[in-house]
Amino acid sequence: MNVADTDRMELLLFQSGYLRTLHVEDADMVVVNTCSIREKAEQKVFSLFGGLKSLKQANPDLILGVAGCLAQQEQNILMKRVPHLDFIVGPDAVESIQQIVHRVSQGEGPVVWTEFDSHKNYSIPEQPLIKDSSPSAYVNIIKGCDKFCSFCVVPYTRGREKSREAEEIYAEIRQLVDKGAKEIVLLGQNVNAYGKRGLEQPVAFHELLYGIAEINGVERLRFITSHPMDFTRDLIHAYRDIDILMNHLHLPVQSGSNRILEMMRRSHTVEWYMDLIAQLKSEVPDIALSTDIIVGFPGETRQEFEETLKLMEEVRFNSSYMFSYSPRPNTPALEMVDDIPQEEKQERLQQTIQLQNRLTEENSQKFLGQEVEVLIENVNLRKGMSFKGRNPHYWSVVFKGGEDHLNPGDITRVRVEEVSGHVLRGSWATNRR
Ligand code: SAH
Ligand code: SF4
Repeated sequence: MNVADTDRMELLLFQSGYLRTLHVEDADMVVVNTCSIREKAEQKVFSLFGGLKSLKQANPDLILGVAGCLAQQEQNILMKRVPHLDFIVGPDAVESIQQIVHRVSQGEGPVVWTEFDSHKNYSIPEQPLIKDSSPSAYVNIIKGCDKFCSFCVVPYTRGREKSREAEEIYAEIRQLVDKGAKEIVLLGQNVNAYGKRGLEQPVAFHELLYGIAEINGVERLRFITSHPMDFTRDLIHAYRDIDILMNHLHLPVQSGSNRILEMMRRSHTVEWYMDLIAQLKSEVPDIALSTDIIVGFPGETRQEFEETLKLMEEVRFNSSYMFSYSPRPNTPALEMVDDIPQEEKQERLQQTIQLQNRLTEENSQKFLGQEVEVLIENVNLRKGMSFKGRNPHYWSVVFKGGEDHLNPGDITRVRVEEVSGHVLRGSWATNRR
């Protein structure tokens, strides 16, 4: 989501006369877009600003701004710890970046813009897109989150849920396709809450998917992230019916223990999640699944942790994003006793990673010797390997061959000769789909 927000700021700032530089040393303005989902992400930001200090000293006219969730959450600390900061813009205020920079360049500062704006949403660019789209393009369909999971800072940094009008989404997708996009990835903290309220023209999430499938030139469709509680039967049917909807679903489960899920306020049980997965697999047997896991949530016993491993083993996820619990400001979980020693959290995390590595390795084997379809996303500079892309199930594919006529944006077939973790390696087979 931060990558999409950065691209959005780039587009808006282009209209104010700015262009993205390749090297930070060439910049007249540096905007650091931050994350605060876990403490580690925050620490990285402060060390980055240490490095930017010398640039500001060398060029006092350099405009220095911070965007993103840390900007929203920790403006006072940022003001204290980062001297010469010119502006702070929260993630819900990205659309106001032009006004903010204008005020700074008029000599006002530091400008802080962190109010949630429940009326404003991502708008479509008034001017044509400035550059070609990458073959796989993100499109925001809903902002904010209303779920308030007890560990999560997002509802406090990104504000309330708000869907974007479907017609705007279609218009943005048409623009992107005109600029070369082949795959559209719909974005939101909780995409399947799309359309639940607030739209002038009510459209449910699955209806939006059918609408996008009608747009000429969209060859692949994906979405991240969806919440198990908002997963409808209609959405399962969309997987079955829409050819361009890729057979991959990222569905965070967080824990395999009902007691921990309740403390996390995820509002579903393990049985509910497993039943959903069973329904999906019965309608779409070939579906690839990935998830998010938190280990070491306050009070998680060894046995409860092992229930998470058991669930992972049962679902046989292709990949997982795995985290050890990190206490976040304002969240209800902060009030719970975080009683698991750091070493124990690390040990649980390592065990989870090892299990996932084994599952990934085992799941990858089925591709060995097979041909897979690949959307080429970029040219890989590593010696002997020419192209990089993804197959429909979201495995990375690296392959050689076809250099004289293949380009990013092409969809082609690759014979898999080697698998390593979540990467399939092979050679170009044919352009036939
Ligand atoms: N909206 C998405 C998740 C967004 S945050 C969803 O609910 O599916 C991405 C992931 O970061 C979460 O799924 C969770 O696994 C992890 N995460 C969020 N807050 C965390 C915290 N305080 N400590 C550790 N991991 C956290
Ligand atoms: Fe955070 Fe839960 Fe919202 Fe995801 S659904 S962003 S984990 S509060």
